[in-house]
Amino acid sequence: MNNKKNRDRELRELLIKKKLGLLAEVKKAMGEKLDDDVRMTFDLLKDNPDKSVDELLKYVNARIIGNRSEEIDDIDSALNKLNEGMYGICEECGDDIPIKRLEVVPAALYCVPCQHEIDRKNNDEISRKDRSWIPVKDEYYLSEKE
Ligand SMILES: [Zn+2]
Repeated sequence: MNNKKNRDRELRELLIKKKLGLLAEVKKAMGEKLDDDVRMTFDLLKDNPDKSVDELLKYVNARIIGNRSEEIDDIDSALNKLNEGMYGICEECGDDIPIKRLEVVPAALYCVPCQHEIDRKNNDEISRKDRSWIPVKDEYYLSEKE
């Protein structure tokens, strides 16, 4: 069981390092984009005079840090799973997911062979149907996630 303990500790360090890196990136991006934000918000306001500045700023910010903050959410839920001792275990076959894979995809639920199998099935499924049923993701607003 020592192995599991070591692995979990290694995973925790990896996740925390990744999260700090992302937070630093977001901070940097927000600093650099501040001028752009103001300009973009002003342009949006011209075209959408009925919207509040607050609302538009949220939209602009969400566009800039949206991807990153989703990644941060992924890492937070990974850390939660880790605390429960459930992180990094393939949900399909129950094997440990290699740390190298988790480093690249912290939210990975399956080991590589199982993921391939699932992707293959999904692709078959989609190509048999009309692809237009795939829902477009809603605009992402950071504020709604706290
Ligand atoms: Zn598996």
